[in-house]
Amino acid sequence: MYIDTHCHLNDEAFINKEEEYLNKAHQAGVDIVFVVGWDLKSSIRAVELANRFNGVYAIIGLHPENIDSYSNDLWDQIRKLQKENRKVIAIGEIGLDFHWTKDLDIHRRQEEIFIQQIALANELKLPISVHSRDASARTLAILKEHPPVFKGVMHCYSGSLEMAKEFIKLGMDISFAGPVTFKNAHEPKEVAANIPSETLLVETDAPYLAPQPFRGTTNESKNIPFIVREIAQLRNLSNKEIEQIVMDNVTRLFHVKQNG
Ligand SMILES: [Zn+2]
Repeated sequence: MYIDTHCHLNDEAFINKEEEYLNKAHQAGVDIVFVVGWDLKSSIRAVELANRFNGVYAIIGLHPENIDSYSNDLWDQIRKLQKENRKVIAIGEIGLDFHWTKDLDIHRRQEEIFIQQIALANELKLPISVHSRDASARTLAILKEHPPVFKGVMHCYSGSLEMAKEFIKLGMDISFAGPVTFKNAHEPKEVAANIPSETLLVETDAPYLAPQPFRGTTNESKNIPFIVREIAQLRNLSNKEIEQIVMDNVTRLFHVKQNG
């Protein structure tokens, strides 16, 4: 059984196509799907989908590129969503994105909001799903100073092996998406081949980052087997062995079980 630990079935690309999306995923053997919010509206939508479909779980929070939508009652709203819905399994995606803006005031604001959400996750006894782009060093420093007590995952990890080892030391898992299948992606392949099994996760980040052979198309959870196959080859294991490793890690980190 395959698991997609990070996708955006709540994206407008999939409105009114959710059932079709999940049917295609099931046909491909992908039976557990985590839907990730990026602001309040998309987090509410993630929870709605989790409540509507078996095997679907919600991750809720404010993405660093969406900090403009912050309002004073946001954390109360996130708290309420979590308290009222048992299928909320993590706070995410949260973190730092220094790729799109070099404005230091915006970077500082992203850091404040990241730290607030780590505290929120600790309060709610949940792990975190971390987005970090062109900001590895600051992300690492913040995780060191403000440890996520219930751990978490570096989603769509794109850094070096050396940096991955630093995140792992802090108890973080490392998740791979479509880029690990790209021909020239030497660094993601090196990381995927060498990190300890107990820290390995897979995701699509759909609708973004479709793996080979679908690169450039709208990505979906049904494509998870192509990412698993690439990692299996890199680690000299079978697809089945990677599936089992991911299942075990998902159960440990997110307390989500097979058929549960
Ligand atoms: Zn995402």
